[in-house]
Amino acid sequence: MNDKVRTRFAPSPTGYLHIGGLRTALYGYLFAKQHGGDFILRIEDTDLQRYVEGSVQIIYDTLKDAGILYDEGPDVGGNYGPYVQSERREIYKKYAEELIRRGGAYYCFCDQARIESLKDGNGNCRYDKHCLRLTPEEIEKNLKSGVPYVVRQNIPEEGAGSYHDLVYGDITVEYKDMEDGILIKSDGMPTYNFANVVDDHLMGITHVIRGSEYLSSTPKYNLMYDAFGWERPTYIHLPPIMKDERHKLSKRNGDASYADFVEKGFVKEAIVNYIALLGWSPKDNAEKMSLAEMTARFSLDGISKSPSIFDETKMRWLSGEYIKEMSDEEFVSRGLEFFKKSKVYGKYDLKKIAALLKTRVETFGEIPEKIDFLEEFGAYDTALYTHKKMKTDENIARIVLPAARETLAALPAFDYQTLHDGLMALVGRLGMKNGQVLWCVRVALSGRESTPGGVMELAELLGREESLKRLDYSMKLLGS
Ligand code: GLU
Repeated sequence: MNDKVRTRFAPSPTGYLHIGGLRTALYGYLFAKQHGGDFILRIEDTDLQRYVEGSVQIIYDTLKDAGILYDEGPDVGGNYGPYVQSERREIYKKYAEELIRRGGAYYCFCDQARIESLKDGNGNCRYDKHCLRLTPEEIEKNLKSGVPYVVRQNIPEEGAGSYHDLVYGDITVEYKDMEDGILIKSDGMPTYNFANVVDDHLMGITHVIRGSEYLSSTPKYNLMYDAFGWERPTYIHLPPIMKDERHKLSKRNGDASYADFVEKGFVKEAIVNYIALLGWSPKDNAEKMSLAEMTARFSLDGISKSPSIFDETKMRWLSGEYIKEMSDEEFVSRGLEFFKKSKVYGKYDLKKIAALLKTRVETFGEIPEKIDFLEEFGAYDTALYTHKKMKTDENIARIVLPAARETLAALPAFDYQTLHDGLMALVGRLGMKNGQVLWCVRVALSGRESTPGGVMELAELLGREESLKRLDYSMKLLGS
């Protein structure tokens, strides 16, 4: 076996890269990098019916965007290419012929009608090895006269296949529960069952990391490794990711992809970080980790066999933790797209808004709804002035607002500190509690129950002219 660890991510280009796929890629990357090895991308596009235009590009873009960089792959090259299965047909043909010579596979010329006739009452068909019994002369004749054929795997009729999986332990599957599946289809394309074996061997893959749905078919692949006289790779199968107790998270069910979450404004590093925790926990139970920290901590014994449940709320929390650590500049530049969607874009100092928002949003997606009130101001329910804890109501507001207007109009400057000192002095003059004044002014300036930031931040952001305008409007609304 190769001395260097080599892992691969082998997605089928069937649409968006879903969360489960990205986790497989991430673990392959973490494991390879931790061992100073190579991580390879291979595109498994032999199922033409499931092929979705554009999805190969999505795979390249997503992995790069997520920082899961591959050392070899279709668009970056490498010494083991081609890395796209549809470009490897000749290779599969050659190895299928060799496997036939070695007794691990055989030509099958049965037509559709015969296959149909083998179906049981439930429509399941188990091939009866009919063509395994053809004589060399019959096979030769059929091939010469161009009778369509598939190549089937020759599974022993008795016995069982066993192997050791690094996550699931010892796995044994009886051969009687496997069928002589198709390795090469009549159009000459290999099936996954054949291509994965040939490619993993030829590409020098040492550790096969993939979803647990392949656990029970792996003995079939081992039969082929053995028939070819190739060393079997080490297997690491990963637990499923569930949407809830009963349903698997799956792209076929339209569950969100990496790109969907980025579009919703989740911080990318948080998505990758959260995905790493779906089925793996580091020894020190750390949660927030950069890719480099995950690489250092990654270990197979931290991978659990039991399914993990995708918890969007937790990922949201993690995203918020990343946001909190950003500088105001970074928050603005990374969230710019979302600022652009808000009504305030181009009208306010985004860095000032960033300072207010950073601790108050978990995703960039929340930016517009949190700040649109800066632009949307109009009739609101004056019952908002009534707040028991703050000991305030509309009558208190009728006293506070005209006084506050006078104070704000007369301030020598309109920055946070000046606003703070001015409003505190007003509290003293009115003989009220802080909360009574601040609550009323905040409602008057925003027309809302909650705003990111307090009165001074809000007034500073709005500026003097707009603040006074809003106070005037609110006084009118209260009839004061
Ligand atoms: N193309 C397969 C899939 O997308 C890859 C499985 C594997 O990693 O071997 O499920």
